[in-house]
Amino acid sequence: MASSPTVSEKTISDDDEIDYSVKPEFYDSELDAKDELWVHKKRNGVVSDAVLSCPACFTTLCLESQRHEKIVTQYRAVFVENCEIKNEEVVQVQSDKKLPKRKRGKNGFEAVEIGKVKPVCCSVCSTRVGVIDEDEVYHFFEVIPSEV
Ligand SMILES: [Zn+2]
Repeated sequence: MASSPTVSEKTISDDDEIDYSVKPEFYDSELDAKDELWVHKKRNGVVSDAVLSCPACFTTLCLESQRHEKIVTQYRAVFVENCEIKNEEVVQVQSDKKLPKRKRGKNGFEAVEIGKVKPVCCSVCSTRVGVIDEDEVYHFFEVIPSEV
């Protein structure tokens, strides 16, 4: 903040030009943080393995997911849609009896080695589809994958 430039009599177009060149910088820095997270994950070998859908109403839940290295019925994702986090419930990681047999390798929750996760449900039909961990990574256990 130096001396204020000669004021309103200066041409408006001058201000406009400055505006356009400055704005993108601000937006960039915000987007960068999010992009970085995703890019970082992609650089670690993450590419989308499947589009995930709700097993009950077939709503698309995630377009970019990563299949778990060992448990092929489990997927991780950072960006999701039509998902509702049940913030009021914090569950300890444990085996879930509700997991449908056809969808579980051995134990759907086995791979989540974190203390606390929150249940994630389909926002359309409220079917539980997975959990979100403390790093805000979604883990889907009960979804229908479509290979991409
Ligand atoms: Zn649903």
